Amino acid sequence: TIFEVVCRPVEMTEGQGVLLTFQDISSFEEAGQMRRDFVANVSHELRTPLTALAGFIETLRGSAKNDSVARERFLGIMDQEAARMNRLVRDLLSLSRVESQERIRPDVQLDIASVIEAVIVALRPLAEASDVRVAFDMPTEPIHLTGDSDQLQQVFSNLIENSIKYGKKGGVVTITLACVGFEPSLRCPAVLATVSDEGDGIKSHHLPRLTERFYRVDGHRSRELGGTGLGLAIVKHIVNRHRGRLRIQSDEGKGSQFIVILPIS
Ligand code: ADP
Repeated sequence: TIFEVVCRPVEMTEGQGVLLTFQDISSFEEAGQMRRDFVANVSHELRTPLTALAGFIETLRGSAKNDSVARERFLGIMDQEAARMNRLVRDLLSLSRVESQERIRPDVQLDIASVIEAVIVALRPLAEASDVRVAFDMPTEPIHLTGDSDQLQQVFSNLIENSIKYGKKGGVVTITLACVGFEPSLRCPAVLATVSDEGDGIKSHHLPRLTERFYRVDGHRSRELGGTGLGLAIVKHIVNRHRGRLRIQSDEGKGSQFIVILPIS
């Protein structure tokens, strides 16, 4: 615990006295430290592709100037690095938008199954390229809840994309929906949307930290797959904004389940 001590002279009946005030500023200090860590992480993540770009520009001006094969290869890498920066900036903006509560329209009624269906259609090319089948049994009746459909699309896009990326090649990513009359964690009726994969799973000691910004189990693999380390932080924020919960379960070697629990209107 960190205390800030303020010392003030006071008049007392017996003469001059001193009033000491102890204020617990631990949470304030913690927030400051988190902000500093965040800025350091963002700077590091941006500096890596920037350094690569600067290096390749120099090479293109110098030794590779008249080598058309090398030039094409370097331009390809520069393209990838620029795309990485683009994804990072996109995710930073999303995170700041959901954190500042911008664009939340909690009064809009939507059908959660249609939201998920739209995400699956958009992710079909990635699934096909990764040799993964996405299985979703669209319920016959709509499941209505109040929320922001763009933000909920982002939740399922991030989760399903992760399951495709970190799941098993040639495997299946399954999405199920279940309604419960009373969800104890929310104390109301809810829908449980589960995204499951058959990947390597996640060691249990990582689970509590997965939704922290820039937390990755394997940084190298994440970067190789185009990850920014912000996807699950965005998911958690959006789910919280909708008064929901995110539960993560994983068995090493048996895959992972990400369960989004949302109150039903
Ligand atoms: P990233 O952009 O790195 O994927 P996320 O915030 O989406 O960032 O996820 C954080 C980390 O959690 C990932 O780097 C990965 O290590 C782990 N992770 C997320 N989803 C899965 C999954 N379905 N299976 C295994 N690991 C996962």
